[in-house]
Amino acid sequence: MLDVISRVSLHPIDYSGALRVTALSFKEKIQENDNTYSFLFTTPKLPGWKAGQHAIFTLPGAHVAGKTWRPFSVASAPSEGIIRIGTIIPPEPSSFKQRLIALQPGNVIRMFGPYGELYIKPSMSKVVAVAGGIGITPFRSIIADMADMDNDIDFHLIYSAKASHVYKAELENWKLKLPHLKITYTTTADEVNAVLLKEVTEGGNNTHYLLSGAPGMIEALRRSLQEQGVRSGRIINDPFKGY
Ligand SMILES: Cc1cc2nc3c(=O)[nH]c(=O)nc-3n(C[C@H](O)[C@H](O)[C@H](O)COP(=O)(O)OP(=O)(O)OC[C@H]3O[C@@H](n4cnc5c(N)ncnc54)[C@H](O)[C@@H]3O)c2cc1C
Repeated sequence: MLDVISRVSLHPIDYSGALRVTALSFKEKIQENDNTYSFLFTTPKLPGWKAGQHAIFTLPGAHVAGKTWRPFSVASAPSEGIIRIGTIIPPEPSSFKQRLIALQPGNVIRMFGPYGELYIKPSMSKVVAVAGGIGITPFRSIIADMADMDNDIDFHLIYSAKASHVYKAELENWKLKLPHLKITYTTTADEVNAVLLKEVTEGGNNTHYLLSGAPGMIEALRRSLQEQGVRSGRIINDPFKGY
């Protein structure tokens, strides 16, 4: 399982957190827009979990055809006391997502993790984050955590979505607590590139660039950042294989 994840990731991952297996009890689902849902689970305390990390989820007891596990970023912050995942349920969902949407309160699923490198490290003084669509999930977690911890670092979220911007109301609410948080909502790749170019021109290698979304978007942004002289160590990404 971890071999597969390493092949889709463009940066080395510390897998140690993936060895922790936690049983989660399904609490409720929230419909965020036409096809996007949040799934909330009760969890015991998870020492070492960092906002922004992802985990592997399985649905024991449910008969899932094909691949029985999926990685999802944890969209909640540790201080929220729950595990939240956010995902798209398409018109013809995979067997895994059919079982996910059918979960009933009290059903138990398994989580391996959270783990991964997409989180705020003390060495980061300025962060530019780019979310493509449902790639917003790790940044919901990070920004909720920053608001809870009063960690008002210089953080610019560039959030691109074709239809609605999921979690916008919550993001705007947390922004009230974080004067150094800036959020730019975009709808096209050209807009993202223009805003990012401005950031790279101003911040260059003094900034860390956190990228989350479909693999094609991540690869294009990473290439573009490197062509503009950004060092690979300044770019951290989670490619959402499957989109
Ligand atoms: C680090 C990481 C974090 C992630 N975080 C999130 C998150 O927060 N939210 C989220 O929604 N997703 C996230 N993902 C992606 C997630 O794991 C799923 O891959 C994604 O949600 C799609 O799952 P699915 O069950 O709908 O489709 P899958 O069954 O995984 O299929 C993916 C795509 O392949 C196609 N496909 C499947 N089987 C075949 C086949 N046999 N032949 C041809 N095409 C096929 C499907 O049509 C679909 O387009 C993350 C991925 C990674 C690696």
